[in-house]
Amino acid sequence: MPWVDKDKCTGCGICTEECPVGVISMENEKAEINMNECIRCGKCHEICEEKAIRHDSERIEEEIRANVEKTKRFMEHFDSIEERQACLRRMMKFFEKGRIVAEKTLARLDSLKNDMK
Ligand code: SF4
Ligand code: SF4
Repeated sequence: MPWVDKDKCTGCGICTEECPVGVISMENEKAEINMNECIRCGKCHEICEEKAIRHDSERIEEEIRANVEKTKRFMEHFDSIEERQACLRRMMKFFEKGRIVAEKTLARLDSLKNDMK
C-alpha cells in the first residue's frame, strides 16, 4: 500500500493526474492517498520523481513501535499490576485476532490463484 512522505512531496500534483482511479488528492499542497480506494497499481511509485510515494513495508517497524506504545499507554490507565496484566492480555488477543484475519485472508487469496488458472 503506498503512502506519501510529506517531507519529500513538493506538491507538484502529477500523481493526482496519473492515478488511474483518481484516489490521490492535494491537501495543504501535499499529496494524500485514499487508502480505502487505492487499487495498488503501483503507478504513483513510478511517476513521483521525488520518491515521495513510499512502500508499506517501510513502515513495519514504525507500526510495531506504535502498537507497543499504544499498549503501554492503555496499561497506564490501570492502578494494580493485575489490572495492567489483564489489559496486556486483552491487547495481545486483539493483535492475535489481526494475525488470524491476515493469515486466513492470505490463504483465501492464495486459492484465487487456482481459480484463475
Ligand atoms: S508526484 Fe510526488 S512530489 Fe508530486 S505531488 Fe505526487 S507525491 Fe508529491
Ligand atoms: S497505487 Fe495506483 S491506485 Fe493506488 S494511489 Fe497509486 S496510482 Fe493510485
